[in-house]
Amino acid sequence: MIANYGYADGGGEFYITIDTGACASCDARPCIKACPAALLVEEEDPYGDVAIAVEEPKRKKLRYECTPCKAGGKAKTIPCVDACPFGAISHSW
Ligand code: SF4
Ligand code: SF4
Repeated sequence: MIANYGYADGGGEFYITIDTGACASCDARPCIKACPAALLVEEEDPYGDVAIAVEEPKRKKLRYECTPCKAGGKAKTIPCVDACPFGAISHSW
């Protein structure tokens, strides 16, 4: 399942997209460990599979929550994206 977390406002589009099907093969969950803001959590999806999601209260504040990785504009490297061995995480900004 492709899950999108985030929002669009006057400042742009701020979405994190996760291909949750990859998470079934990834017991180590390196994305959770890589995130300095503790945004990524395990969550059961509508199909009953446990996969990675953005923590619910933080989904509408991603532009600010991701500041530790993106302060000063578009980051060259993004820890959660780099940590995922399956390329399952992408960002819209
Ligand atoms: S690192 Fe990638 S595949 Fe592994 S749990 Fe995180 S999002 Fe899923
Ligand atoms: S960009 Fe940084 S703060 Fe945002 S989810 Fe990824 S690792 Fe966490």
